[in-house]
Order: sequence, then C-alpha cells, then structure tokens
Amino acid sequence: MFVVSGPSGAGKGTLIKGALQRIPDLAVAVSVTTRAKRPGEVDGREYHFMSRAEFARLVDEGAFLEHAEFAGNRYGTLNSELDRIMGTGRSVILEIELQGARNVRRVRPESVSVFIEPPSLEELARRLRDRATDAEEEIEARLEVARTEVAAREEFDHVILNDHVDRATAELVSVIDAEMDAA
Ligand code: 5GP
Repeated sequence: MFVVSGPSGAGKGTLIKGALQRIPDLAVAVSVTTRAKRPGEVDGREYHFMSRAEFARLVDEGAFLEHAEFAGNRYGTLNSELDRIMGTGRSVILEIELQGARNVRRVRPESVSVFIEPPSLEELARRLRDRATDAEEEIEARLEVARTEVAAREEFDHVILNDHVDRATAELVSVIDAEMDAA
C-alpha cells in the first residue's frame, strides 16, 4: 500500500493521476468526505460525499482503515474500498493528510509513505488561490495546516519536491516501481 501525503495544493492529486496512467497495476482508493462537493466533482469519483451523521455511523461500524478531521471536515479511507482494489490484484495508493498517514503507518507498518513537498509556502498559497474553488477562509485554514504538515516531512519514507510536475511525477513513478519490484 502506498500513502501519499503533503499539504493541500502541493499537487498530490496531479502526481497520483500521472502515476496511475503509467502503472496499470495501481489504483487509487476513493475516500469518504463530509465536505461540500466542488464544481466538477462527481460523487463516487473524487469522493463518496456524505453527511456528518452518515460518516459518524460508518465510524461506529468500524468501516474505516483511518479517518481524520481536516480544515473543519471529516475524511476517511474505507476498508471495503481497499478490499475491492486488492481483490483485483492491484496495489492501492491513498491520498491523505498527515493524521491519516500517521494512523496508516501504525496499523499498516509495511506501507510505503511518500510526502509531496511544495516548493515554498508562498507558492502553495498562490496555487490554492489560483485553484479558486475554496473560500478565502478555507484557504487560510489550509495554509495554517500546511505549516504543520511540512514540518513532519521527515517522518516519511520518501520526500518528493513538486517543483516541476513532469519531473516530480517521474520520481513518484520510480519510487512506486522500485517498491513494487521489491515486494
Ligand atoms: P480536499 O478537501 O482538498 O479534497 O482534501 C483535503 C485533505 O484531505 C487533502 O490533504 C487530502 O489528501 C486529504 N484526504 C482526502 N481523503 C482522505 C482520507 O480518506 N483520509 C484522510 N486522512 N485524509 C484524506
């Protein structure tokens, strides 16, 4: 199992998309979230969108491998989603924030963790504002969390600086290829 973490806006999603295109035996787990759907997002594709009540019920049922609160919303990885992917013989990649990455490290110590680092916090702020999908208040909350996340980069097996998308994608692909060959 691969765990990709790093600040919101660091480019995790873009790099993972690139890796999925190049590595057919890899699939991304679709998480559950309580946050509002952004324009263009589709339920069941980017996330399974749910109410806080539904999310809490899944927590009570023990449905999650891990779950965390991020910038006022809840996010979690379903065990059933992992079973579905691994049942097809593929490796799973998770795109999750720091607390979730720490939880996965505890329950699945054999997992391989990758931290995607933005070139700078200034660049991160620019990317989040360019994305223009979140309210300014939300962006500020994400930047505040980003400082804590960048400070934790040394906890990860691999750190990839996302200075250029193509170069960083190639680095992620080679990390995953090497680990899959070793497994
Ligand atoms: P966004 O709201 O921008 O889609 O995601 C916010 C943060 O939540 C990102 O860092 C994203 O990687 C993380 N995230 C997405 N899904 C999960 C999940 O299932 N578990 C955890 N712990 N974090 C997640």
